[in-house]
Amino acid sequence: MELGLKGKAAIVGGSSRGIGKAIALALAQEGCDVAICARGEEALKATAEEIRSQTAARVLPLLCDMSSYDDIQRLVRQTAETFGRIDIVVNNAGGPPLGTFDDFSEEEWQKALDQNFLSAVRTIREALPHLRRQGGRVINITSVAVKQPIDRLILSNAVRLGVVGMAKTLSRELAKDGITVNNVCPGNIATQRLLSIFEARAQREGRSLQEVLEEEQGRTPTGFLGEPADVAALVVFLASEKARYISGATIQVDGASTTAVF
Ligand code: NAD
Repeated sequence: MELGLKGKAAIVGGSSRGIGKAIALALAQEGCDVAICARGEEALKATAEEIRSQTAARVLPLLCDMSSYDDIQRLVRQTAETFGRIDIVVNNAGGPPLGTFDDFSEEEWQKALDQNFLSAVRTIREALPHLRRQGGRVINITSVAVKQPIDRLILSNAVRLGVVGMAKTLSRELAKDGITVNNVCPGNIATQRLLSIFEARAQREGRSLQEVLEEEQGRTPTGFLGEPADVAALVVFLASEKARYISGATIQVDGASTTAVF
C-alpha cells in the first residue's frame, strides 16, 4: 500500500527508545524525515545512527525535555529550519510515576501535567503554523488508561484524559485545515517502562519478575505482550494519506485486553 509519506517531515517526542523510537524508525522506513528527541545525549545519538543505518531518511536528533516549553519551542523551530516543513507531530514522552493519590505532592501533579498534557498542547501550538501550510497529522500517544483507568497510576489516568478531551475538540477545529488529530492508546507493550512497572509490582508483592510477566501474558487475550512496532504500525497508518477521514479517534493497541466497549 502506498502511504504517501515520502518526503514528509515528522517530529516524534520521547524517541531515544521504546514506543517513540519504534515510531520514528517506522516513519523513516516509509520515507519521512524525522526529528527525534530525548533528554539524554548518548542514547539519542545512538538511536539516530541506528535509524540512519536502516533507512535513507534524514534524522535530526535534538536534546529536549518535553516538560519544558523553551525546549519544545526550540525543537519545533530547529525541525522546521532543517527540513523546511513539518507534516506530522507525534506527541510522546515518558510516563508519570506509579502511585496513589496520597503519594503525590503539588509539584508531582504539575510535573505530570507538564510532561504528559501541556507537552502535547505546546508542541501542537508551535507546530500548527507549519502543519496549516499543507495539512498534516497530530497523533498523541496516551494509554489504555483513558478507556479503563489502571490502579496505582492515578497521574496517568487523570492527566491523559485531558489529552483526549483536547484532541477531540481540536480534531473538529482543525478539520478545515486538512489536519487530523487522533490518540493511540498502548496496552502492555514490552519496553523499559513496562519492565520497571512490573519490577516494582514484583517487589511489592514479593514475587519474581518472571512470575509477573507470565501472569500479564496470560491475562492478555492474544497470549503475548505487544512490541513497540505494533504501536508504530498504527501510528504510521494514521500519519498516512490513507487516513485522511480518520480524526478525533482514540484507538487502543492492547491485544484485546481492554474490556470497555469504547
Ligand atoms: P520508555 O520509558 O521506554 O521510553 C520513553 C522515551 O521518552 C525514552 O526515549 C525517554 O528518553 C524519553 N523521555 C522520557 N521523558 C522525557 C522527557 N521529559 N522529555 C523528552 N524525552 C523523554 O516508555 P514507553 O514504554 O516507550 O512509553 C511511551 C509512552 O507510552 C509513555 O508515556 C508511557 O507511559 C505510555 N504507555 C506505555 C505503555 C507500555 O506498556 N509501554 C502502556 C501505556 C502507555
